[in-house]
Amino acid sequence: MRLDKFLADTTDLTRSLATKAVKSGRVLVNGVKPKSASAKVADNDEITLDGERLILQTGYRYILLHKPAGYVCANRGSAHPLVFDLLKGITNRLDMHTVGRLDLDTTGLLLITDDGQWSHHLTSPRHHQPKVYRAWLAEDLCADAEQRCERGILLDDDPVPTKPAQLQRISDREVLLTIHEGRYHQVRRMFAAMGNHVERLHREQVGEFVLDPNLPVGEFRDLTEEEIALLA
Ligand code: URA
Repeated sequence: MRLDKFLADTTDLTRSLATKAVKSGRVLVNGVKPKSASAKVADNDEITLDGERLILQTGYRYILLHKPAGYVCANRGSAHPLVFDLLKGITNRLDMHTVGRLDLDTTGLLLITDDGQWSHHLTSPRHHQPKVYRAWLAEDLCADAEQRCERGILLDDDPVPTKPAQLQRISDREVLLTIHEGRYHQVRRMFAAMGNHVERLHREQVGEFVLDPNLPVGEFRDLTEEEIALLA
């Protein structure tokens, strides 16, 4: 592969900016300044930019992000910052997509990948994974909320009730809700249908997978092989 292509694939630089970086001496191949950006590089060459080793990512990427509030699950065209902006150092981040979506102000477990088959499998109704949300409410929860969630709730503009969902009352204003489908704004609309309002929403779990309590808000990590298999 040509060095300028390698640099474009592993950094945010375009090929012409990569050429400039080579000319200005910022790039070393095995510790030596290359003669030109069109030089050929091999798989085992150690290539650095400003002293930092560049690794060509091969294969798919599977990421767990602890989503902060105020970030939107879209690749472009939003007035708000994108969740992908948080994936510092991942060069093909705009080729990636989120597995399902969280609302702008929802926090918590968000999976991001460039493996369309994996995410399709995870979100398809046949393999739908239960999702656990912690919600903080504006009003005290009604007495029969557990039964209503289990029976199914009619949302505004939707003639089909929600699938049975499990509600665990932590207190009258804090709950854990497990849902088995993914309708638009589903959790907020379920509580709205019960005359309440969700003030804060946080996703803690998708399938067997629980948000790592040691992962700070806004940070991400790669899933392990076992985790990727666990969710497939
Ligand atoms: N349900 C919602 O209402 N919002 C989310 O972000 C996720 C589930």
